[in-house]
Amino acid sequence: MKALVYLGPRRMELQDAPEPAPAPGEVVIRSRASAICGSDLHGFREASPRRIPPLIMGHETVGDVVAVGAGVDPARTGERVVLKPILACGECARCLEGRINLCASGRLVGRDLTGGFAELFSVPASAAVPIAEDVPNDLAALIEPVANAVHVTGRSIREGDDVLVIGAGPIGVLMVRGAVLAGARRAFSGDKVAARLKFAEGQGATPLDVDDPAADIAARTDGAGVDVVIDAAGFESTWALALQAVRAGGRIEAVGLGASKGTVDFFAIAGKEVQITGSFAWTGADFGRAVQLIEAGRIDPEGWFTHMPLAEGQRAFEELVDGTDRFKVVLEP
Ligand SMILES: [Zn+2]
Ligand SMILES: [Zn+2]
Repeated sequence: MKALVYLGPRRMELQDAPEPAPAPGEVVIRSRASAICGSDLHGFREASPRRIPPLIMGHETVGDVVAVGAGVDPARTGERVVLKPILACGECARCLEGRINLCASGRLVGRDLTGGFAELFSVPASAAVPIAEDVPNDLAALIEPVANAVHVTGRSIREGDDVLVIGAGPIGVLMVRGAVLAGARRAFSGDKVAARLKFAEGQGATPLDVDDPAADIAARTDGAGVDVVIDAAGFESTWALALQAVRAGGRIEAVGLGASKGTVDFFAIAGKEVQITGSFAWTGADFGRAVQLIEAGRIDPEGWFTHMPLAEGQRAFEELVDGTDRFKVVLEP
C-alpha cells in the first residue's frame, strides 16, 4: 500500500509500506480522506521531539473498517468511521474524571503511531467512531478540530456573552462557530489577514479592524471589554491583546501555541482578576458532541476545503508552510 512518510524537516515522500494486519482489539481502516492539521505543519516545518521520522502523520481522518482483529465484533467490517485519535489509558486519575486529553500515558494516532496519511492503518477499535454515510468526507475529517472548539466554547461561553477569538485560521474560525452555537451575542474575530477575517465573517464572526483590534473592541464594548477571549494564535502580541480586550472578571482561553515563552502582563491579570485557562485537545464527550454537530449540518462547509491527492502531500505541506490562501487541505489516497 502507499503511505505519505515524513522523513525529516520539509521532507515527505509517497512510499510503499507493508499492509497492516489488525492485532487483537484493533481494526484496520481504509482511509478515504485525511486533513492536514496545524500541528502536522509544525512537525513538518522543523524537527520536533514529538514527531520523530520516519512517521506517517494524519489524525483528522475518515474511512472504512476493512478488517477486525480478535475480540472485535466482525459486524464492524464495512462500517464508515471517523478517527478519534487520542488513545488514553482509561485508568489514571485524569482518565477517570473523563479528561483523556490529560492522560499521562496518552498517545496520539499520527504522532506516536501510524496515522491516516496512508491507504490503510490500524487502531484500537475504540478509536474508530461510526459516522453517518451522508456526511461528506471533508466535513467528517473536520470532526477532530471541531472537537477542539467544542472543548473550549462548551465550558467558557454563556448565553449572551461577547467573545473575541484571536486568529482566523481553521481553529480560530471553528472557535467562532462554536461560540455562536454556544449562544454568544457577538463573536469578534481578530487577524492580520483581511481575507481570513472575511471568511470568519461568513461563519458568523464580527471582524475587527486589522490595524488596531484592541481599540476596535474598546469602541464596540463601551470600554468594558469582552466576557471571553479565545486566543487561537498564542504569541506575545496576542497575549497582550487578550489581556487588553478581556473585561474585568473575564476569562481567557489559551489555545494557540505560536510562541512557547514570552512576557505577560501579570499586573493586568491581577488587576482585572482574569481567569486564564489552558486548553489542550478534547475529551470523549467533546468528540461525541462534535460528531453530532457535523451530522446535524451545523458547520457550513462553504469555502473550507481544498482536495489534493495523497501523492502530492509534499507539495501540499510545503505550500501551507510557505503561505497559501488554501484554508484546510484534505489529502485523498
Ligand atoms: Zn488536529
Ligand atoms: Zn489515563
